[in-house]
Amino acid sequence: MTGTAAGTAVGAVAGAVVGVSAEAPAGVARGPAGGRPEMTEVADGVFAYVQPDGGWCLNNAGLIVSGDHTALVDTAATEARARSLREAALHVAATAPQVLVNTHFHGDHTFGNFVFPEALVVGHERTRTEMAEAGLHLTSLWPEVEWGELELSMPTLTFRDRITLHIGDRSAELLHLGPAHTSNDTVVWLPAERALFTGDLVMNGVTPFCPMGSAAGSLEALDTMRALAPEVVIPGHGPVGGPELFDETEGYLRLLQDLAQQGLAEDVDPVDLARRTDLGRYARWLDAERLVPNLLRAYAEEQGEPRGSRVDMSAYFSRMVEYHGGLPACHA
Ligand SMILES: [Zn+2]
Repeated sequence: MTGTAAGTAVGAVAGAVVGVSAEAPAGVARGPAGGRPEMTEVADGVFAYVQPDGGWCLNNAGLIVSGDHTALVDTAATEARARSLREAALHVAATAPQVLVNTHFHGDHTFGNFVFPEALVVGHERTRTEMAEAGLHLTSLWPEVEWGELELSMPTLTFRDRITLHIGDRSAELLHLGPAHTSNDTVVWLPAERALFTGDLVMNGVTPFCPMGSAAGSLEALDTMRALAPEVVIPGHGPVGGPELFDETEGYLRLLQDLAQQGLAEDVDPVDLARRTDLGRYARWLDAERLVPNLLRAYAEEQGEPRGSRVDMSAYFSRMVEYHGGLPACHA
């Protein structure tokens, strides 16, 4: 278990960007700040597949290996990226994954499911529902991305609260901790290896994103994850770290809630509030424009909107584009 201490979130991201020198795999476009995705063993038999730089649609995946038994956690956004992930998985595991866990319904984590046809796809029951409802909508937000010939492959085994996977000698607990990032978040906890795949409940050096879930729910999920006492934390985006990532994420979410309370008290439009806000240390995290949709959810939540309720995401996205002065870049 080496190389897992990520230092500060901002420093870790800077390190990942500066340290890139290898070429991206064939077929995978290399973004301006991106680089080659890497599969790294972060605990015994536990591998993190990290896709720099962790911005929009550049998510992480992971692999749990024990002898001939392999489970995959999440896939990738585009066909080319998913095929690169498959290649990397077959490089470290004796067999293709027999099980594939989706941590939530977002396309960057699920669109690549179909390149693992041998795997039983497992997810929260609402992951299946929301995948079906969203379809390939994400591809229309960034039409210039080379998505490939995507085919939706949804979870065929669903659960509500928790389920345990047995992968050879290893056990992985799938725990639903939402609504937080979305309505259907699952973390994958390996108690013996003390490794936790957080999905997008935690990102490292990348701005949290909770408009489809809940700011308060995200904070509660952090408490639950902290109580597990993991040594290795594999975030949904950005470099692998440790439990310090919980504190980093909590700091941002508490600031978000404070801002929303202040904005509501002063009756300030969320975009105007975002414009006058100095995010301080969090301003250096990737995709800082997420402040706007995060504020919109936090405002709604302060006014009684239930956690994980359906909101008008295209309106939220439009307001973010308005604040950002254009579409944020997606380097998938
Ligand atoms: Zn996500």
